[in-house]
Amino acid sequence: MTNDTPSCALTPEQYRVLREEGTERAFSSPLLTIKEDGDYLCAGCEAPLFPSTTKFDSGTGWPSFYDAYPNALATKTDYHIGVARTEYHCARCGGHQGHVFEDGPTPTGLRYCNNGLALTFRPKA
Ligand SMILES: [Zn+2]
Repeated sequence: MTNDTPSCALTPEQYRVLREEGTERAFSSPLLTIKEDGDYLCAGCEAPLFPSTTKFDSGTGWPSFYDAYPNALATKTDYHIGVARTEYHCARCGGHQGHVFEDGPTPTGLRYCNNGLALTFRPKA
C-alpha cells in the first residue's frame, strides 16, 4: 500500500473552513452570484448538500439556503462567539459548512448560512 493522494485537494482557505470551522469574509464567495440550476456539493467529499432551488439572497454576504438534501447535514451547538449557535457540517465527511438560523424564508423558516469555500457548484447536466 502506498499513500493515496486525495483526489480533491483543498486549498489552505478551504481547509481552514472545513476542518477548523473558520469563516470566510462576507461577500467574498463567487457562489453568491450563481443563479443556474444545479447542486451545491461539499468541497471536502463532493456529497450533494443543497439543491439550487433552495438558495436565496439573504443579504448577509454568504451563500444562503432554506433547506438541504435529506440527511446531508448534521448539526451541533457551538459557543465560538459566546452565544449558542447551531453549527452544521457535512454528514459524510464532517466538514464544517456554516450555521443555521431560524430567520429564513418559507417553507422551512430556516437560513443555512454557508461558507462558499466549503461548497462547489455542479450545474445541472
Ligand atoms: Zn463532505
